Formats: sequence, C-alpha cells, structure tokens
Amino acid sequence: MNAALDVIVVGGGIAGMAFATRLVDRNDQQPVRVRIFSKAAVEASNSFAAQGGVAAVMRLEDSFEQHIRDTMNVGAGRNDPDVVRLVVGEGPAMIRSMIDLGAHFDSDATGRLQLAREGGHSMARVVHHRDRTGEEIVRVLQARVRSSPHIEVIEPQRALDLLVEGEGTDRQCRGIRAMDLRSGDVMDHFASLVVLATGGAGQVYERTTNPIGATGDGVAMAIRADVDLRDMAFVQFHPTALHTTEPGPAFLISEAVRGAGARLSAPDGRPLMKAIHDMGDLAPRNVIARAIHREMQLTGSSHLWLDASPMGVARFAMEFPAIEKRCREMGIVAGRDRIPVVPAAHYMCGGIRTDDSGRTALKGLFALGECASSGLHGADRLASNSLLEALVIPKRAAGIVFTSAPIEKLRSSRPYRENWLSRRTSAIVTRALGSLRHAMSTHVGIIREEGGMLHTLCIIAMLERQIAPIWNRRRWSPELIDLRDLLVVARSITSAALAEPASMGAHYVEVK
Ligand SMILES: Cc1cc2nc3c(=O)[nH]c(=O)nc-3n(C[C@H](O)[C@H](O)[C@H](O)COP(=O)(O)OP(=O)(O)OC[C@H]3O[C@@H](n4cnc5c(N)ncnc54)[C@H](O)[C@@H]3O)c2cc1C
Repeated sequence: MNAALDVIVVGGGIAGMAFATRLVDRNDQQPVRVRIFSKAAVEASNSFAAQGGVAAVMRLEDSFEQHIRDTMNVGAGRNDPDVVRLVVGEGPAMIRSMIDLGAHFDSDATGRLQLAREGGHSMARVVHHRDRTGEEIVRVLQARVRSSPHIEVIEPQRALDLLVEGEGTDRQCRGIRAMDLRSGDVMDHFASLVVLATGGAGQVYERTTNPIGATGDGVAMAIRADVDLRDMAFVQFHPTALHTTEPGPAFLISEAVRGAGARLSAPDGRPLMKAIHDMGDLAPRNVIARAIHREMQLTGSSHLWLDASPMGVARFAMEFPAIEKRCREMGIVAGRDRIPVVPAAHYMCGGIRTDDSGRTALKGLFALGECASSGLHGADRLASNSLLEALVIPKRAAGIVFTSAPIEKLRSSRPYRENWLSRRTSAIVTRALGSLRHAMSTHVGIIREEGGMLHTLCIIAMLERQIAPIWNRRRWSPELIDLRDLLVVARSITSAALAEPASMGAHYVEVK
C-alpha cells in the first residue's frame, strides 16, 4: 500500500469542497487524506450566498465562441484567452456532472433547463436554482464531503499563515499555522500540499454583498509568503444591492432580475441606462455601477430605484423567492413597488496567480476559487462565470495533484502557542477597521483618483503602525486578525490600482 497523500484545504466553500471531492474520487490511484480547515460554517461563505447561477453554453443557438467573446469583452481583453477557452469549453459537461451528482436546476415541463440572462451576456445562458443556486451546489457537495471517509472538516479553525521552508527555487509550502477559534490554541499543521480556497475580500469596503468572513485571508497569507498575485486592481462592484440603513452585508438583488425585465431608474423616474450603453440594463457591471454612482453623486441621493413592475408580483415571487421574501420584510411588494438599490463591493477579480489547474508560483501551494486568479476574468468578471471557475479549475487541480505533490512521511501537527485568542476587541481596532473601509470606499472604490489612492496608502501605513504593538502583545481578537489581513489586501489593491494608470474594466481612474 502506498503512503497517503496528505492535503490541507483552507476554505470549505464551493472551490474547496469541489477540489476535495474530486480528489478523493481518485483515491484508487493513490490513497489520499484531505483536511478542510474552515473558520466558519459554509452557510457564511460567498458560495452559499450565490443567487444567479452558473454560466454555460447549453443551447444550440448559443456557442462557445459567443461565451468566450462575452467573457473577454467584460474582462476588457485582459483575460488569458487559453484559460477562457478551457473553462468555457468545460461548462456544459460540468453542469451535466452536477446534475448527475444530484443538483436540481430549474427546467421547464419538458425537462429543458431554463436559462437566465445577466449583465454582459449576449444571450440567456445562466443555469440556476431559483435565486439560491449557490446553496443548491453547496448542498450537493456538502453531502459528498460528509459521506467521504477520506475528508475531514476541521472547524472553526482560522488559518493565519503558510509554513514555508527552503530558499530560492527550493522554497516549498509545508503546511499552515492555524488558530482554533474555540480554544484559542495556535498549531502548526503539515501536509504534502496546501490548497487555498478562502474566497473573496469584500470586507475591505464599507458596503459589500460579501459575508463577514470575506476578509481576503488567503491572499494576505500568500502576500506574506511572497507568492505572486495578479490583477488585484480589479474589484467588481455589483450595481444592485438592496439599500437599507442596517449594518452588515448588503443583500443582493440579482442581475437576473434585470435579465427578467426590471429597469433601473433615476430619482426623477428617468430610465438610467438607456442612453448610456447599448446593452442598457444588461451592460457590464462596471458600466452600470459607475452610472449609478455618478447619478447618486449628481443628485445627492443615497440610492436609485429598480422597477420590476414589468415582471409582475406573481412571476417575481416564483422566480426570485429569496429576494421577494427579503423585500417583503422591508414592506416592499417586489414586482409592484420600486426597490431601492445601491452598488456594493462584490467580487475580487484578481488574486493569487495560478495556472489553468490551480498551481501557484510556490511549490506545494495551490489556490482555487475567488482567492485565485487563473486568468479567466481579466479586468472584470462576466456574471456567473465565477461558480463555473470554482467548479472547473478544482477538478483540473485534483487531476494533477498526484504528479505535483511529494508523497513523504509527514510531520504531525505541533502546538505553536496556547490560547492567543482574546474575546475583547479594543476600540482602536474597531476604529481602525472603520477608517480603512472608509478610505478604500472613498478613494479605491468605483471611481478612483491618483491623489486619493496615495492618501489611502498613507492611511494604511499609519494603521499598520498603530496595530503593530497590539499584535505583538499576542492576545488576538478575531477582529484584530481580520484587520491584519485586510490591511495587507487593501495595500495590494491600492498599489495595483496605482500601477494601472489607464481605466480598464472594473478599474476606473478619473484624472483631475
Ligand atoms: C451575494 C453573492 C451572490 C453571488 N452570486 C453569484 C452567482 O450567481 N454566480 C456566480 O458565478 N458567482 C456568484 N457570486 C460569487 C461566488 O459566489 C463566489 O465567487 C464563489 O462562491 C467563491 O467560492 P470560494 O469557494 O472561492 O469561496 P467562498 O465560498 O467564500 O468560501 C471561502 C471559505 O473559506 C473559509 N475561510 C476564509 N478564510 C479562512 C481562513 N483564514 N481560515 C480558514 N477558513 C477560511 C470561509 O469560512 C469559507 O468557508 C456571488 C457572490 C455573492 C457574495
């Protein structure tokens, strides 16, 4: 019997689970043990929140060429064309394989998949499960994870850093340092291969559709380990989050609502997008988010309106039950009343640079899903391409792991420090988080300007100096750990944005 390949996956969203389940499917080639470290339950992931669906070419009237063209148009040509071709080409087979695994996607009476249309797509090609597609895919993958004797989910564990050994070209990732969020103990865990699948970083902004755990941890760990990144300047803002005054993640009004006929309107009732882009309300997200942002600045209003009345109340409730419910809680009858909407940080288009199979520049380290940059998205992400990527690239990664990772006798986990967790957050940390988010939203958000970005770098440096002594005291609250990672990610986004003088995709610079 061969020794088992020991793999640590950081992150239990769709990318992490898709990789783990595909890898153990190959257990007959080589015994394998996968440990998924996750800081929170999967219900708190971006994956679970995904509404719209998965983009794939599922009809004869559609074609790979058109899906590729739409992806490259939205990505402003910054995409890696080979990766785009590959991921788009695997779309239909991936959808069929998810159906075979038990996923229910909406279909008509004849069993034909119903496809929605979203921004930047030249036709309807988004496969969905009502407005809860992420939850449905999570359900299927989670059942497989739970039933596998070769996968262990270790939760709540927060990975803090990568363990890297060696120098120069011999550098290799050997494991992770992680904190048990219950006991506070910090341990070093070793593995033949580490896979980062930690999701996005929307929490670097004041208003985001991302859950509170989206703090860019994987990217921050990679930066501290000197691993290459790509395209960090490109942060997608979704045009239509529900406008409320409540704190916490912004609730998303899926683009599929506009795909089904809803229209954006200015405070005076004027249709917003008609005169701005020939795709109107289904223009690329960066175009619409900017148009809303400008209109809000011009009119001084806190939000614009989404008019879904062409759809009617019954159809809205049937196709978008989760959105209808959330609107109802606010006293809004969706499909009759206008819905107040505002842009919100939504998706990190860049990330840890990988090849088309998740390999990073550091030996022993893969990155998958939203924390990675495979080259698919370029300067902006085509709607519903991210779930496709989070399913396709992990499958490919699982296919090459056996030839990429050394099988060797592993060191067992060892304690690093006991109980470094503090339940109390200092007021300085809370204030610093607020200042960081405010600076990022004001200067490195939808519309950017050089002076503001330079000013933000100064604020980041000042906040880093402020928290250094608190960090060194070694009593870390979850908020302090978040702040440490968010500062690293914010610096990376801002520096990358400054290095991109020309506007492109989600990065828009105003010259003053
Ligand atoms: C509201 C919303 C709607 C969306 N709708 C769509 C859609 O319709 N179609 C589409 O294609 N995309 C959509 N997206 C984007 C898509 O959902 C995400 O890009 C994708 O799910 C990312 O999957 P992931 O596995 O990479 O990350 P996630 O699903 O975010 O999972 C990350 C995991 O890592 C864990 N983690 C993070 N840091 C650490 C750490 N330090 N230690 C341990 N664990 C850690 C988290 O707890 C979580 O389990 C949407 C996103 C949002 C927020």
